[in-house]
Amino acid sequence: MYNRAAMERTNDYKVIIIGSGPAGCTAALYLSRANLIPLVLEGLQPGGQLTITTDVENYPGFPEGILGPKLMDLMRQQAERFGAVFKMENVERVNLRTHPFEITTDQKTYECEALIIASGASAMQIGLPSEKALQGFGVSYCATCDGFFFKNKDIVVVGGGDSAMEEATFLTKFASKVTVVHRRDELRASKIMQERALGNPKIEFVLNTTVEEVIGTKDGGVTALRLRNLKTNEVTEMKAQGLFVAIGHTPNTSPYTGQLDLDERGYIVLPHRHSTVTNIQGVFASGDVVDHIYRQAVTAAGSGCQAALDCERWLTHERITERWGLAKGEEDDVDR
Ligand code: NAP
Repeated sequence: MYNRAAMERTNDYKVIIIGSGPAGCTAALYLSRANLIPLVLEGLQPGGQLTITTDVENYPGFPEGILGPKLMDLMRQQAERFGAVFKMENVERVNLRTHPFEITTDQKTYECEALIIASGASAMQIGLPSEKALQGFGVSYCATCDGFFFKNKDIVVVGGGDSAMEEATFLTKFASKVTVVHRRDELRASKIMQERALGNPKIEFVLNTTVEEVIGTKDGGVTALRLRNLKTNEVTEMKAQGLFVAIGHTPNTSPYTGQLDLDERGYIVLPHRHSTVTNIQGVFASGDVVDHIYRQAVTAAGSGCQAALDCERWLTHERITERWGLAKGEEDDVDR
């Protein structure tokens, strides 16, 4: 059992896409329509972050809105229609120092000519069972995505960084009141973001406090939060109809450490403007795994399309270089 992954090897797929959120699915759609039949390794959360939200109202083309899991199902079906193959396998390690690249999942080792990494980022969670149970039912990790559903509601935002200040400020457009709950007596956020939030009359701060339990049901949504003051140990209940957790994101890049260039936060670095190629030719990256700024389904989908086009062009160039035996110097601009 231990060596199963090492034993089973296949080179059936020229291109592998890691990740099945909007970036991965869009890359799969474009590649399969270009007859490059990719294998999509879906990862631990098939469909990505949209599968833990409910209604999506800002993805163009759905005037009535669409459920996050439904949208991802449609994206997947659209790619499958043209031949993309999806497998529910999680990538454990890669070897990008060799070519073909080697991708080892929990089940197999794959060899591929080109790789698109669209493994996304994960919103950090507080880690409460009740938080998990109510994800998409009052517990959210994205104010831009879900803020609209909390019109005239009382909302709690957890976190003390720039994300929490930004989310809290944004949510005041909808909410009647936003309470920022932070575990220390000092905010981590930059001065300007703090000042903006502190100066907003709709935002209150509860410091030295953590959320211990989210109270509510899937039918009725969130109704209250159980809070613990870390200085006094006092436990109180606060009425709230929504909880936004804004304690950071982690890019899903651990298999690439030491091989791909990552920035100080662990996001994949794209060295060329207007290209999704990484520091390794033939390895492309798109979506939230490279983007900590926009983090939208539509921007991820757009960059998945770019990665597929870059990948296709690179493969075409590679075939030309092989066939015509061009000198190394002429190959060098292939990844642009
Ligand atoms: P962050 O700076 O790492 O802040 C995370 C916050 O969450 C911290 O206040 C931390 O508390 C708290 N936290 C972490 N784990 C927690 C837990 N388990 N329970 C409760 N609280 C927890 O993350 P971020 O705010 O997402 O920002 C990430 C980066 O993006 C930063 O460099 C930021 O400047 C940047 N950013 C910029 C903008 C902008 O300029 N518009 C917007 C968003 C983000 P402690 O303070 O006690 O550690």
